[in-house]
Amino acid sequence: MHPASLPSDADLVRARTQVGDFELTVCTDGTYLLDGGAMFGVVPKTLWEKRMQADDENRILLGLNTVVVRTGRHTVVIETGIGNKQPAKMRAIHENQELLPASLTAAGVRPEEVDIVINTHLHFDHCGWNTTLQPDGSVTPTFPNARYFAHLGEVQHGHLQLDRDRVSYLAPNYDPLVQSGQMTLLDNERLRSDPKICHGISVELFPGHTDHMMAVHIESGSEHACYIGDLIATSAHLNPTWVMGYDLDPLECIAQRKRFYERAIPEKWLVLFTHDHQTPMARIEVNEKGKPVVQSTE
Ligand SMILES: [Zn+2]
Repeated sequence: MHPASLPSDADLVRARTQVGDFELTVCTDGTYLLDGGAMFGVVPKTLWEKRMQADDENRILLGLNTVVVRTGRHTVVIETGIGNKQPAKMRAIHENQELLPASLTAAGVRPEEVDIVINTHLHFDHCGWNTTLQPDGSVTPTFPNARYFAHLGEVQHGHLQLDRDRVSYLAPNYDPLVQSGQMTLLDNERLRSDPKICHGISVELFPGHTDHMMAVHIESGSEHACYIGDLIATSAHLNPTWVMGYDLDPLECIAQRKRFYERAIPEKWLVLFTHDHQTPMARIEVNEKGKPVVQSTE
């Protein structure tokens, strides 16, 4: 990166807010570029480009938001960006910047103090800094004292290395943690019977983008925030039918978005978007056309 374009602290810490007694900070692994068509599936470009500018290679700029929640008892990290294990060729394609360590430092979060890490799913751009590639070539846990949580179905799917999505599943992001016992794998039975990860933090299955993608609920007092992962990747994806080319089951995504809005809108949840660099969080309301939109007052 050119020195003149080094990010400031303001760029590194995307947002801070309070959810009840909990302190919530949105950190970032920086931005990356993806094909606009892939991000908006069958939505015509003439419609989506009103919401997101594409460059001359049709790429759009996306964020990589990591949410840090301090509950008073635990420091919880949700999602860990792309990380530093990408081959040079992939870095050149995505132009990602590997900023999460600097972002955490800017936010006053030391990796050693993190005791819980949650991945909504195990695509490369959600769990990259679970582990760190060291100069000697070894891969070590980025958060040495944390317990990591992911869905068993994601690890199993990743291991299948299917034609459709093998490039998204990079075993060094999770296999070493599973093998060492540092990562707890949740199954659907556990999600049904005991979705709680710790005081005030729980997970819920929202399939469609992948079969086992989980949202993370953050609840304190009467307030509720929800990290919705790739079910709604950015605030430009709020329309239930604006699903992504990446989604494995777009029809399921539409149904699950509607299910999400049935609670998130009336209960005024603070919705946290993984890939929205400009609007990492928002409350949702219904506009005069009956479509979910970012609440105009915030
Ligand atoms: Zn994904």
